Amino acid sequence: MTIKTRFAPSPTGYLHVGGARTALFSWLYARRHGGRFVLRIEDTDRERSTEESVNAILEGMTWLGLEYDEGPFYQTHRFDRYDEVIEQLLERGLAYRCNCSKERLDALREQQLAAKQKPRYDGHCRDCTVSADEPHVIRFRNPVDGEVVFDDLIRGPIRVANTELDDLIIRRSDGSPTYNLTVVVDDHDMGISHVIRGDDHINNTPRQINLYRALGWDVPRFAHVPMILGEDGSRLSKRHGAVSVMQYKEQGYLPEALLNYLVRLGWSHGDQEIFSLDEMIELFDLEAVNRAPSTFNTAKLDWLNQQYLMHSDPARVTHLLSPHLGDLGIDPAEGPDLVEVVKAQRERATTLVELARISAFYYRDFDSYDEKAAKKAFKGEADQALAAVRERLAALADWEREPIHQAVSDTVEALGVGFGKVAMPLRVAVTGGSPSPDLDLTLWLVGREATLRRIDRAIEHIRSNR
Ligand code: GLU
Repeated sequence: MTIKTRFAPSPTGYLHVGGARTALFSWLYARRHGGRFVLRIEDTDRERSTEESVNAILEGMTWLGLEYDEGPFYQTHRFDRYDEVIEQLLERGLAYRCNCSKERLDALREQQLAAKQKPRYDGHCRDCTVSADEPHVIRFRNPVDGEVVFDDLIRGPIRVANTELDDLIIRRSDGSPTYNLTVVVDDHDMGISHVIRGDDHINNTPRQINLYRALGWDVPRFAHVPMILGEDGSRLSKRHGAVSVMQYKEQGYLPEALLNYLVRLGWSHGDQEIFSLDEMIELFDLEAVNRAPSTFNTAKLDWLNQQYLMHSDPARVTHLLSPHLGDLGIDPAEGPDLVEVVKAQRERATTLVELARISAFYYRDFDSYDEKAAKKAFKGEADQALAAVRERLAALADWEREPIHQAVSDTVEALGVGFGKVAMPLRVAVTGGSPSPDLDLTLWLVGREATLRRIDRAIEHIRSNR
């Protein structure tokens, strides 16, 4: 059997992390089994669907690298096909027109609720003749007895009695097809073998299976992925912070870190935490997905992001960091080699945004000193220490790490003070107090001209603040 999965978002908002995880699971399952992955935009709700949302979804998928082999398909382009299937069902007596008024349906609902019954359509129009010319909906004639049984790849066997299901509307009075119909037609026509989706759809599945059977189509396998909770135990939403995938990009997360985080959200392989994409593809399995909801934990995502910052190819980090420096108005071409800066700074940041912020001083003079750092470093005879070290640095033949280090040590020795008395003010003078690596490396990257200029500025700062 050819494995084919799909991601079928409704374009009514951004791509959120829950959707991205469902997409990732579907994508991984297809990749793992040498199958195909389809993207389908479920835009039949014309009121709520927007083009911006379609773009946000496509952008999110691209940023995460979840390439699709087919699509994007748009349901709004397939109305003729849905009509054709609905007509077939009508002709074969498997669907019928219903003209029950809203008043009748409301009254029915009231009665059922009063009798403590589950509200459901009573099949009133099953045997009526309703003309196509009068306002009506079309309902599917759900079997009245027997049960629907399916083996969910995550949840295990699920059985639902047909007496629990009612005759669902497959075409609204405005002529538009409903979700349960379009999803069945599309999953069938597109050859989907495995439907992997959020478990908010689990109650729809038995109805959809009845539709497959009525149409004489093979029923795909289903896997319902449990929901994601916020740290307070309620369903993850905007209240909990960033939920849009692109917000994570803006905040400086690496797509591979977010993917790694999402794959572990409900799936595990022993106690391994870090998975390359290739490992995920090799190891991912629906059977190992947890049945219980998972809790979104930002601290863990931060930890993973830091791991990726520290251990990824520096060229990759550099590539991802550049736009964040651009956001600060910095052109990395006008300063030290960004790859070297990345190597020097990356263990000091959690996100690319932070890495950009703490690396800005390599490219431009900072606006002001970090108050705490300056207070600590610029006291006592700091101006004299700076003046002394400046002289030695200015006289160096080569601006290289080793001679820079030597110049600092020689100054320390000549002044007969502790290393910190020279190194601390020098570091703050050059960095403004930003986190930075070894002093000689820092100065080497900043360059001689900027180093001397900043020492002069610090001396002035110290003297004018006396
Ligand atoms: N369009 C549906 C949604 O966004 C998903 C339908 C499905 O996966 O079957 O919730």
